[in-house]
Amino acid sequence: MHPLQQALAQARADHQYRQRHIRDSAQGVLLQQDGREWLSFNSNDYLGLANHPTVISAATQAMTQGGVGSGAAHLISGHHRLHHELEEALADFTQRSRALLFSTGYMANFAVISSLYHKGDAIFEDRLNHASLIDAARLGEAALVRYQHLDMPSLGRQLDTHAAAQRVLVSDGIFSMDGDECDVTGMCQLAKRFDADVMIDDAHGIGVVGEHGQGTVLSQGGSEQDVPLLVGTLGKALGTFGAFVAGPDDVIETLIQTARPYIYTTALPPAIAAATLASLRLAREEDWRREQLQSHVQTFRRGLEEMGLVAATSTSPIQPLLLGDSETALRASQALQQHDILVSAIRPPTVPTGQARLRITFSAEHSEAHIRSLLDAIEQSVLPLLRDQ
Ligand SMILES: *Cc1c(COP(=O)(O)O)cnc(C)c1O
Repeated sequence: MHPLQQALAQARADHQYRQRHIRDSAQGVLLQQDGREWLSFNSNDYLGLANHPTVISAATQAMTQGGVGSGAAHLISGHHRLHHELEEALADFTQRSRALLFSTGYMANFAVISSLYHKGDAIFEDRLNHASLIDAARLGEAALVRYQHLDMPSLGRQLDTHAAAQRVLVSDGIFSMDGDECDVTGMCQLAKRFDADVMIDDAHGIGVVGEHGQGTVLSQGGSEQDVPLLVGTLGKALGTFGAFVAGPDDVIETLIQTARPYIYTTALPPAIAAATLASLRLAREEDWRREQLQSHVQTFRRGLEEMGLVAATSTSPIQPLLLGDSETALRASQALQQHDILVSAIRPPTVPTGQARLRITFSAEHSEAHIRSLLDAIEQSVLPLLRDQ
């Protein structure tokens, strides 16, 4: 065990040691954790649906009637009518032929990349893609080629130099740690020119981006033909758990027939599907949630600029505040705790070395006063840390 202890000690010395906190309340903007009450800017529950009464009652009703566990994989006896209805609702929402449920986004990404691309193929990924997309390519048989963040000329150069039987261009829709948006149109143009496929993981865009929250691809005018592979997750803006792949019939059938992360795992509890049907309806209809988010983002960015700080390029509810080294990021997070505000310090290897940050996220359930409290706390306690650097 000695090498393990050494590595753990090193992580502590580098300010990269991670610790879990124990939350006692539901997820929300006001929560209880480690025996204290907090104002939280620290979840992916952007629309405030994780603890919504309509969503809870859909889940409890389904659970009372249908039990808790699904009891089997989808291809055995696990596939419940509620799963099926949710797949149809997600296909309709994203304007795609079909959708297929997965237990997590991590597994959905692994499924798509490993079952559609093989030896001799190449996966082109943005450098800042989510770890699950990078891992999927690393674990699969196809070659992984990375391009500079959001840099279409860099992607073009990589395509020029890496021939392969089949090629796919893969990106986050909204980048999970930076909050900026992928250039779907630019990717589709390159895909046409180089005869490649396009895959977008819209974990942070579904429910948030576009007029009714239909995501980054549709909001940039991308069709199923332009972007055949769309992954979305249910555990973020939709407030429940799980993920889906939406696309053409032959893609979905291939995943059902061959994707090991689909075949060899237990189906989600049907009550989670029922809850998601309810939250999807709320997400789609209650445009005020997205309007509220946009207003918070603008208030926050304006506030940062008034303090003389440079806001990141993100216009999404993910607003990173870059601090540089891990120690400063940790100290900033701790300084906000003095104001009963919860924001995580995100450190390498989740983000590149030297780009440790506070990852601030907004929810439709935040009030204008909450955003003001955050700005005041940043001004009093984080700004001085930045001046010291
Ligand atoms: C959160 C996230 C995932 C993983 O989804 P889970 O359902 O939490 O496993 C995949 N991709 C991106 C971009 C994410 O942010």
